[in-house]
Amino acid sequence: MKNVMEKIRGGMHIIKLKLFKKYAPLEINIHITDKCNLKCTYCYSNFYKRKCEDISRQDIFRIVDAFKELGVLEVSLIGGEPFLHPHIADIINYVKDKKLSCSTVTNGYFLEHCIDAVKRLNMVCVSVDGPMGVNDITRGDGSYERAIAALELLKNNGVNRSVRATIQKHNVNNIDEIFDIAVRYDAILNFGLLFPQSSEDGKVKTVSKDTPGDADLRKALSKIIELKKKHPTRFFNSITNLKNARDWPPPYTRFFLYEDELKEFPDFRPIPCYGGRTFATIDTDGRLYPCTNLIGYYDAPNVLKMDVKEAWFNIADHKCRACFYLSSVEKNLVSSMNFDAIRNIIKIGHVR
Ligand code: SF4
Repeated sequence: MKNVMEKIRGGMHIIKLKLFKKYAPLEINIHITDKCNLKCTYCYSNFYKRKCEDISRQDIFRIVDAFKELGVLEVSLIGGEPFLHPHIADIINYVKDKKLSCSTVTNGYFLEHCIDAVKRLNMVCVSVDGPMGVNDITRGDGSYERAIAALELLKNNGVNRSVRATIQKHNVNNIDEIFDIAVRYDAILNFGLLFPQSSEDGKVKTVSKDTPGDADLRKALSKIIELKKKHPTRFFNSITNLKNARDWPPPYTRFFLYEDELKEFPDFRPIPCYGGRTFATIDTDGRLYPCTNLIGYYDAPNVLKMDVKEAWFNIADHKCRACFYLSSVEKNLVSSMNFDAIRNIIKIGHVR
């Protein structure tokens, strides 16, 4: 019943947006901490090296209040490792007491310490990149076992869970094994693709050395599409989204296309971007970006230094027009009321 109500609220939200052309946030991602106990080699912001201060509990409450007034439906708490924020349980409880959907992405090491708050989460995405010998190459020794223990814990406590697998050169041929892990823990499978990686000072973006070759990535995406067709409710990503990624026209080292770059690919039909219109991301330093992929690309308004609503109304006007990031594109599809994406969400019953 709770899920049905959430879907109705989400649907009304999008219809309002379409009718009144009002940019109301559906989902806000908040990087609440840079701290991380792991050192994944492909980490897109090198969070464990940056060492920004955590966003304080009071600031997070203020941000959540402002977005709630703007109409947000879901708050996603991310990091770093969000469970290293000293007030993570209070933050989850605050979001839930506001009657908002709350999800998180975690490496799974610290869930046990605040299991009561964890049980209130609508979705916990646990990062697992494949079987132990593959996962631990990039995520570190012992990280597979801890992620699997977290999935077990979530399963035993009846918490909605997903396996979040980032496709990179070490696991690009392990799609079947990743699928088996999700089945074993009755988790939704949520694939991610690599983001550009920031230098330590955040000023330079580079291509991760873990980036797979284009042909391998396309093959993996074709495999995922094949599995999705057979097991539609096991995968978070819709087929339209997966095909957009598989058929991305430039090399995958071109992470997104600006308006003026689209003319290079006249046959490509980009999925309209709603970044900064129906979703956004707050970096740990307080900057509000249209989406996670644009972190560090420009001097974004800072919600720790200005009114949150003022910042929100200043991020929609960007020139980024197309990308292949599965999590962002899914939101773009839902916001544009794409039939396949809406049907997918109704079938799987979760927005993340
Ligand atoms: S097209 Fe939109 S969602 Fe994709 S990277 Fe650009 S701003 Fe983000």
